[in-house]
Amino acid sequence: MSIEFQVRTNSGAARLGRLLTPHGEIETPVFMPVGTVATVKAVPQDVLEELGVQILLGNTYHLYLRPGVETVRQFGGLHGFMSWPQAILTDSGGFQVFSLNELRKVSEEGVTFRSHLDGSSHFFSPESSIATQIGLGADIIMAFDECTEFPADRARTKASMELTLRWAERSKKYFEEHKQEVPWAEDRTPTTLCHSEHAQSAGEELAVPTPSPSSTQATQSLFGIVQGGMDLDLRRESAERTVEIGFPGYAIGGLSVGEPRERTREVVEATLEYLPKDKPRYLMGVGTPEEIVEYANLGVDMMDCVLPTRAARHGLLFTSEGKITIKQARYAQDHGPLDPSCPCRVCRRYSRAYLRHLYASNEVLAQVLNSIHNLSFYLDTMRRVRHSISLGEESRFLSSVWARPKA
Ligand SMILES: [Zn+2]
Repeated sequence: MSIEFQVRTNSGAARLGRLLTPHGEIETPVFMPVGTVATVKAVPQDVLEELGVQILLGNTYHLYLRPGVETVRQFGGLHGFMSWPQAILTDSGGFQVFSLNELRKVSEEGVTFRSHLDGSSHFFSPESSIATQIGLGADIIMAFDECTEFPADRARTKASMELTLRWAERSKKYFEEHKQEVPWAEDRTPTTLCHSEHAQSAGEELAVPTPSPSSTQATQSLFGIVQGGMDLDLRRESAERTVEIGFPGYAIGGLSVGEPRERTREVVEATLEYLPKDKPRYLMGVGTPEEIVEYANLGVDMMDCVLPTRAARHGLLFTSEGKITIKQARYAQDHGPLDPSCPCRVCRRYSRAYLRHLYASNEVLAQVLNSIHNLSFYLDTMRRVRHSISLGEESRFLSSVWARPKA
């Protein structure tokens, strides 16, 4: 078993689903907080559990540079290293390397890049990205792709898309040949565990579990990534040919790279049409609270974004009454909670005045509390979306609040 995905209810294009991974069950649509270097910045793992986080994202590029894959592998992968027993997804490093821009060089073989930490030279290929991701041991890993820059002309976009397709085949081939090497494969093999227990209880010599490729052995799942820039025909071609290669889930990549938001929506909608309905669909790197509701309504099952935590560190807070910039003087004497509708531990305990004071004083606690609230708001938003889908309604609650003109 790697993953199993079930769509339980549809409401319009939106789907309520269940994704089973070797490290737990996920209700979709799901928002995945980003834990770049094996930490969701400023938020401890027990608080993430309290918030109901079902799956976290880790960044391969950052973890490869520091602490390095061998360190993580020794702990049984990221789950053991960061003490997060639930599901994890890693990206391929392609996007991060893409955003280094000046520091990278792309060839058919892969990408040479310089570390943002010390300027040292490194190389990622589809094979080495997958090898790294197998060592990191996330439940879901991503094919190595090239994120096409924006703007790009058609010829360039097509060439980039073709490269991503060739890299997708290489990613899959390497993964199929090496997937048994995931650091937790043995622990999660039902047959092997039963065998050892039986041997012990019978007083026999403990059988040494011998990991062998079998259909019952838990492995990671490799998702394919659709590229094709802002060109709808190329998006369709990329989707169809990626599906032809065959993956247990599909991501839409190459968006949120500077294009107007209406264009993002158009590309997402056009791409979803060509992705199989019985497989999870993951839209990478979006968005604001109103955007994640919008994309869930279009039929996206998984989303991730650094926005809730990054905005929190800059004092920008999402609430049911709209956005709040906590440093503003008008909150200096405000006794009220950050968001009267939010059940999170921050809103239950602290006043806006106190949060403003922490932020103005540049206290570490400001980052912690702001991040907890923003994550709570995102996760609640998704919870409400799932509830709406289960009732057969379109999730509009947030859009209406956020569309209101600013006071
Ligand atoms: Zn809150």
